[in-house]
Amino acid sequence: MDYVTVCGLEVHTELATKTKIFCNCTTEFGGEPNTHVCEICSGMPGTLPVVNKRVVEFAVRTGLALNCEITRYNKFDRKNYFYPDLPKAYQISQLYLPICRNGWVEINDSVNGGKKKVRIHEIHMEEDAGKLVHDDWTDCTLVNYNRCGVPLLEIVSEPDIASADEAVEYVEKLRAILQFCGVSDCKMQEGSLRADVNVSVMEKGAKEFGTRTEMKNINSFKAIHNAIEAETERQIELIEDGEKVVQETRRWDDSKGVSTSMRSKEDAQDYKYFPEPDLPPIKLSEEYIEGIRSTLPELPEAKKARYISDYSLTE
Ligand SMILES: [Zn+2]
Repeated sequence: MDYVTVCGLEVHTELATKTKIFCNCTTEFGGEPNTHVCEICSGMPGTLPVVNKRVVEFAVRTGLALNCEITRYNKFDRKNYFYPDLPKAYQISQLYLPICRNGWVEINDSVNGGKKKVRIHEIHMEEDAGKLVHDDWTDCTLVNYNRCGVPLLEIVSEPDIASADEAVEYVEKLRAILQFCGVSDCKMQEGSLRADVNVSVMEKGAKEFGTRTEMKNINSFKAIHNAIEAETERQIELIEDGEKVVQETRRWDDSKGVSTSMRSKEDAQDYKYFPEPDLPPIKLSEEYIEGIRSTLPELPEAKKARYISDYSLTE
């Protein structure tokens, strides 16, 4: 039997703003644990968030560079989950009216040849979580909130990616565009760019997608490639053995080259989203959006095309 891979990516990118998304703490990487924190990003009762306007500007900039529609009236929502990396016990994100929708990135079609578009379903703004440090020596888990509240864009693709090579090319293109626009340093080793990878397989010619699994926080091109190839193989083996693929979140271990089951996949309803009452909706004028468009640099693809035509260079 012939199978096709169906893959969609959720790429998280930390924005290169000086301060966090809802407070004045620095976004600088590293530092002594729990020194880049204040009463807002550590979730003290009675504090209120204020949106960093540079985050909105960078989100619009990214959306325009990725051929998106900009949502003139967008707002924040509360994503509730109880985990020590977020002291408020909820993350401020966007679900119902994300700031950008319906974009695309062009890549090489690894199956049919030529070019194809990977559609972008949406881009939303949200805050990053802190980091848990599992300390084997003292057999406990420590928490570092320096990263808590660092602004993130989540760029959600449609399941238009058909191979590990396409996924890598898509993330490479995204990274180049984000860097050209100056919105993120995209340092994968520091977690400024990381991908959640959704994979399913189906028989060639089938109309319905197979059951998908998700692998979270993959932060190198090699790991993205390996994870998709290994997960495709694992799912095909299950199907050929007459077993079922379970919808779940899996942890990819790149050094071992295997993924292991983490938990059953959450749906949006598990997070009990509701509109964030502490932040007003954001209204964007045409003038504001066009002002940002006018400052966009020449993007990688346009630059490449110009070099090829003006200097007769090969691709
Ligand atoms: Zn803070």
